[in-house]
Amino acid sequence: MNPNALRADLEARLGRSLAPARISPAGGGDINRAVKLEAADQTLFVKYNRADRLAMFEAERRGLEAMAATSTVRVPRPLAAGRCGDIAYLALEFIDLRGQPDPAALATALAAMHACGADAFGFDGDNTIGSTPQSNRWSDDWLEFWREQRLGAQLRLGAQNGRFGRELLDSGARLGEKLAGLFGAYRPRPALLHGDLWSGNWSADGAGRPVLYDPACYYGDHEADLAMMELFGSPGARFFSVYHEHFTIDPGYDLRRDLYNLYHLLNHANLFGGGYAAQSLAVIRRLQAVL
Ligand code: ADP
Repeated sequence: MNPNALRADLEARLGRSLAPARISPAGGGDINRAVKLEAADQTLFVKYNRADRLAMFEAERRGLEAMAATSTVRVPRPLAAGRCGDIAYLALEFIDLRGQPDPAALATALAAMHACGADAFGFDGDNTIGSTPQSNRWSDDWLEFWREQRLGAQLRLGAQNGRFGRELLDSGARLGEKLAGLFGAYRPRPALLHGDLWSGNWSADGAGRPVLYDPACYYGDHEADLAMMELFGSPGARFFSVYHEHFTIDPGYDLRRDLYNLYHLLNHANLFGGGYAAQSLAVIRRLQAVL
């Protein structure tokens, strides 16, 4: 990454000077690397990766814009995305992130975002979950959406890359055919989801307000976001009690939590291998036992 070229590219896109443009490494996440760029009147957080990852950043930008448009929760404002030499990048407003937000404030903000709906399930364009492509074709039928574009997509990927054994593939396909049994009378409505809400993707700003970032947005069952919040860590009991005040949780949630998190376990199995395939199979067996 050439810092001078990045600065020039950003200045051209934004149409203003970023002087003195002090650029320093800002760590990075699981997927991308990042720099902090300090201009006179604004600080930018610039995520970058190989040049062929521009579509991933454009999709993240659309997700952040959709979340920002709800005016319910703070997200880093996307400023520009583009290619520069051998990198693709996404420039965001830099936010001084500081630990955990008040769980009640996080619950209220997330419930308000989830109250923002759409006419169907899906999103305006595909995006990625981790580095795996995530398809978001619009559908009126949540079960069909989940079966094909979430569960089915991961199973097909696992079959292609040889990471999933026959038992996992077969039992996953059988589960897909019986999804309705996990929903009873519950009829999810399309809610704007963050889509990748593990504990590393929320934090607090300097004023303690919740901030969400690094989304994989789509319109889906709000329970899918809640489920993922419990997958790797948990926002705690206070979060859930306040969320419940704003948004009733259907009694069947506990069961569907496993279904929704299965998508992320399968994705981890596809990305990292290890014990995730076995963990996925155990979840499928548990769900099949109640069907
Ligand atoms: P990745 O896409 O590689 O997972 P993230 O978007 O999660 O990267 O960012 C990595 C880390 O950088 C986050 O965990 C967070 O601590 C920090 N971060 C993310 N966005 C911003 C931002 N706009 N301003 C400041 N820090 C940020």
